[in-house]
Amino acid sequence: MPLNLVLLGPPGAGKGTQAKKLAATRHIPHISTGDMLREAVAGGTDIGLRARAVMEKGQLVSDEIIVGVVRERLAKADAQAGFLLDGFPRTVLQAQALDTIVAGCDRLVVVDIAVADEELVRRLTSRRVCSQCGTNADVPAPGQSVPAQCGRCGGALTQRADDREEVIRERLRVYARDTRPLLDYYRNRPTFRPVNGAQAPEAVASDLAAAVDDAEAKAGGEVA
Ligand SMILES: [Zn+2]
Repeated sequence: MPLNLVLLGPPGAGKGTQAKKLAATRHIPHISTGDMLREAVAGGTDIGLRARAVMEKGQLVSDEIIVGVVRERLAKADAQAGFLLDGFPRTVLQAQALDTIVAGCDRLVVVDIAVADEELVRRLTSRRVCSQCGTNADVPAPGQSVPAQCGRCGGALTQRADDREEVIRERLRVYARDTRPLLDYYRNRPTFRPVNGAQAPEAVASDLAAAVDDAEAKAGGEVA
């Protein structure tokens, strides 16, 4: 049975890593908004050309364009046996459009990787990148200190300007503001599951797999 999955989670929750792993395990395409836009632009589709025009002006791509890109991507052959959406939907309007796109398919499973703001701030302010080789250092576990040197080449690790605490708090504030209505939109569905993201990545992966299995059984057990 196809698994039609939406993965939600704030910046710093490790969503991208979990998404890649889960999509590989379940043999479904991992579809991220960034990838979708790049593919549409590279493919020179009508929507891709419109998206490029907007991005070249440094503007944000509208709901309408994003939804168009997702609709094109989900119509491809490899998405017919299931998909994992990462970074979409971001708004209730996009979620409603997605419901229309998948109408008649197996129901959406929606999983939210939840992490408290203080832990996200800790993780995001602990991120370091090597000034010599560009490698991203592993984010230290709670209680561990932030490394000063690159584990690969010994170069000095530095912090990106947009990983400063005030910038991160603003990013999390915007995420919470935009996502709360989206969570409210999905929360009462029998196929919605929250997962505790404030754990080691392996534990999150295992909880995530269990949540998906559980929600999937629910999705299959009811007539959509
Ligand atoms: Zn290095």
